[in-house]
Amino acid sequence: MVDMVMTEMAKFAENELSPLNEVADSEGCTYVNEYEVRTPKGFKEAYEKYTEGGWQGLHYPEEYGGQGLPSSLGTVTGEMAATANWTWLMYPGLSKGAINTVLSHGSDELKAKYLEKMVDGTWTGTMCLTEPQGGSDLNLVSTKAEPIGDGKYKINGTKIFISCGEHDMTENIIHCVLARLPDAPAGTRGISLFLVPKRKVADDGAVGELNGAKIGRIEEKMGCHGSSTCVIDFTDSEGYLIGTANKGLSHMFTFINTSRIGVSMQGMAAAEASYQNALWYAKERLAMRSLSGTKNPEKPADPIIVHPDVRRMLLTQKCIAEGGRAMIYECALLADLMKEAEARGDKETAKLIDDDMGLLTPILKGFLTETGVEAANLGIQVYGGHGYVKENKQEQILRDVRIGAIWEGTSGIQALDLLGRKIMQQKMKPLNRRLKQIYKEILPLVIGGSSAAVRKHARSVMQHAFEWQYLTFKIAAKAARDKDFVGSASMDYMFFAGYVTMAFHFLKMEEAATKQRKAGNGDADFYLSKIQTSAFYFDHLLPRTRSHAESMFTPLSSIMDMKPEHFSFDHAL
Ligand SMILES: Cc1cc2nc3c(=O)[nH]c(=O)nc-3n(C[C@H](O)[C@H](O)[C@H](O)COP(=O)(O)OP(=O)(O)OC[C@H]3O[C@@H](n4cnc5c(N)ncnc54)[C@H](O)[C@@H]3O)c2cc1C
Repeated sequence: MVDMVMTEMAKFAENELSPLNEVADSEGCTYVNEYEVRTPKGFKEAYEKYTEGGWQGLHYPEEYGGQGLPSSLGTVTGEMAATANWTWLMYPGLSKGAINTVLSHGSDELKAKYLEKMVDGTWTGTMCLTEPQGGSDLNLVSTKAEPIGDGKYKINGTKIFISCGEHDMTENIIHCVLARLPDAPAGTRGISLFLVPKRKVADDGAVGELNGAKIGRIEEKMGCHGSSTCVIDFTDSEGYLIGTANKGLSHMFTFINTSRIGVSMQGMAAAEASYQNALWYAKERLAMRSLSGTKNPEKPADPIIVHPDVRRMLLTQKCIAEGGRAMIYECALLADLMKEAEARGDKETAKLIDDDMGLLTPILKGFLTETGVEAANLGIQVYGGHGYVKENKQEQILRDVRIGAIWEGTSGIQALDLLGRKIMQQKMKPLNRRLKQIYKEILPLVIGGSSAAVRKHARSVMQHAFEWQYLTFKIAAKAARDKDFVGSASMDYMFFAGYVTMAFHFLKMEEAATKQRKAGNGDADFYLSKIQTSAFYFDHLLPRTRSHAESMFTPLSSIMDMKPEHFSFDHAL
């Protein structure tokens, strides 16, 4: 069953989505009027095939028309679509965030009215947080929600940068909007969440009149041209409260967390796509001779894959794609386990898993989008000048993935979330649990690993895990004296956590591959390649933790002492 689902999605990604990726970039979206935006040629038809195939409902409950399969299957199939055509996937992808939010926090009435059509893909969804005056800082949300009786609210305010906020793929769009009720407390404690459809929906489910969600404009962007990025002016739009008043931000985190894992997949998928192209090119392109002697005597030069520096670039991309995939799949598995715990009424286990995912989410989002950008950049470098021109499509991958480190909370915000909210505020509990799990899984490999390399790498992961704990204590002590220390250390800390988390996964993959190879199972060369990729990771990428560990503890003065007016002596600045 799983094989069949994956094979079918692979075909869909290859035959329907991948051919649209270039046109998505060159044609982009077109603003028609305040209620109409056209998506690139072919997007609508591909979406129809996707919904006809029942893909949107793959892992949603059967009571809402889904197929009730594990959500990890949605992650694996989603990765194929993401690699083939990220911007197309954003339409059903954001919709999943909206479905999860209504499922988790919506009233029975809202669920009955909206979920079935969202699960079968008849309608899509969006997340509307950002306003002109604030994106990272949601304290600044000023959109207003005024009760008008009968459980309805009038929504007024402007949201900007709303992905897939208007398009021609479905008859209705369900916006999840953060807004403030009258007399709500200031700050994030006064934010509520509302469901605001583009078109009002009658009790019998019929789609009716427009609801004042007017598109002011769509943005011209560096990349991701296939997804519309909209200014939406909500003008007396009718909205319905999702969950509890003033708890909107916490409810919205269901959406935000879904999207953050989705965006980490964007980084990993970009690394994979760019790597596939670069690998092909490195075998074809001839330039100079190998330093260790000619490898291709019948040709005027050797293929560039013989050169150590080109191999460094390719292997870095490969590590980011394969290590990132393992990190994301772990989260997908945790999501399944959490659902299972919820289904059997085991709230305690569900809460623990939720906390574990809470710790991993900023690591994945921050680290895999930053390294995804690095991988896409290397993919251009492997092509030399031919990577810089549009024809070879490597530059599109970099332009498309660059936003990954910005939306759904910038890398700076992920780093603060990790160190501040997930570690310090929770008194290190989720981190300690995570480290305990690493010790438990890795300790047996220190002595009993299947090869000398596995044992050596296991020692390295153990040392890094101890160091992670030590660094955290040290930061806590320093931060007690000066809170700015958290901000100055957080980015290095996030990278450190990312590299160690990836090392943990490479070690497990290396051990599994070594065992399979020794047992003579499967394709020996495939397992050898896994072992060699892991060797590269431990030799060349994990040592980056040295620089992060060191720069984390440099004196705060070198980052904070310079006065704003001394950053430049050009008085215009
Ligand atoms: C193409 C695109 C699509 C988007 N899609 C959506 C969408 O669908 N829905 C939606 O609601 N939003 C969306 N956004 C908005 C996006 O999430 C925000 O742009 C992002 O969260 C950053 O907010 P900002 O642009 O206001 O930057 P700011 O918040 O102004 O941040 C500017 C810089 O300051 C840094 N910074 C801010 N505060 C701190 C701090 N306390 N400590 C350290 N550094 C800090 C940031 O890291 C950043 O580098 C989209 C944006 C784009 C460009």
